[in-house]
Amino acid sequence: EVKKQGKNNYHFFSNELNAQITERVELEGELRKSIEREEFELYYQPQFHAGEAKLIGVEALVRWNHPEKGILSPALFIPVAEEIGLITNLGTLVLREACRQMHKWHEEGGPLIPVSVNLSSQQFYQPHLARDIKKILEETGLQPAYLELEITESMMMDAETSSEILEELSSLGIRISLDDFGTGYSSLSYLKMFPINKLKIDRSFIQDIAVSDNDKAIVASIISMAQHLKMDVIAEGIETKDQLDILVASNCSEIQGYYYSRPLPAGELASTFLAPLHK
Ligand code: C2E
Ligand code: MG
Ligand code: MG
Ligand code: MG
Repeated sequence: EVKKQGKNNYHFFSNELNAQITERVELEGELRKSIEREEFELYYQPQFHAGEAKLIGVEALVRWNHPEKGILSPALFIPVAEEIGLITNLGTLVLREACRQMHKWHEEGGPLIPVSVNLSSQQFYQPHLARDIKKILEETGLQPAYLELEITESMMMDAETSSEILEELSSLGIRISLDDFGTGYSSLSYLKMFPINKLKIDRSFIQDIAVSDNDKAIVASIISMAQHLKMDVIAEGIETKDQLDILVASNCSEIQGYYYSRPLPAGELASTFLAPLHK
């Protein structure tokens, strides 16, 4: 292929590739320095009880305030942080900050609200996760019941080990939620074996729910299964009133999505949803 396109084209591709490699090496270097430079910020996306229009919690979503590139999405740097072994440091930082913030809002006279924190696979399998979390809860003063960890089905491929980890975590009194539910390939039998408190229906099933009977049927089945298993269920990625109405009609009362609010910096979340804090 390359030969047919001639020498110049080959050089073009090679330069392109070089640029990509250089950029990647730079990103890795900057990521290594970003933690001590405190360039990470947590945004919080509110979660609502649809019927009562009541705030029931927030999900912490990390952002990288890059000095030149601006605010970078986790989809861009979390995989890199995993590859270069930085994710456990970053993950600990995120956990501590999320717990600290919930406790602080409460101390300032706001409500005590639960926070969900995403875990990466490496973090989940790190040897001292439960011990570290226990320490973070003690240091920040947040009650364990107000911390929820979001894991994904793909993390539970090693059923025996993950079951032990989940038991250890849940014995701390924190909650476990299964993120992006329906997109992985875990066996449904995990749901009854593991201490999972909540299913989070992935946005890919919500997107077309107003026009796709199949998606509507899948979502309705997940909701009904969760209820039978006595788990909570939340839908993520709700952007329109139509989607909201269908979910409510299907008995899913917990909602997260742009329809209510995008993820917001702590101050904005507080002034918008925790009034009268930080007005
Ligand atoms: P996730 O945990 O499934 O988080 C939901 C993502 O969907 C967030 O993207 C959120 O901003 C976005 N979202 C929420 N509502 C809507 C909506 O109505 N429409 C659309 N189009 N999107 C919506 P974000 O913040 O870019 O995060 C992407 C992923 O990065 C997260 O997916 C999570 O897997 C990962 N992530 C974020 N923060 C952390 C973290 O602190 N640690 C780890 N390990 N992963 C994180
Ligand atoms: Mg999540
Ligand atoms: Mg996720
Ligand atoms: Mg998700």
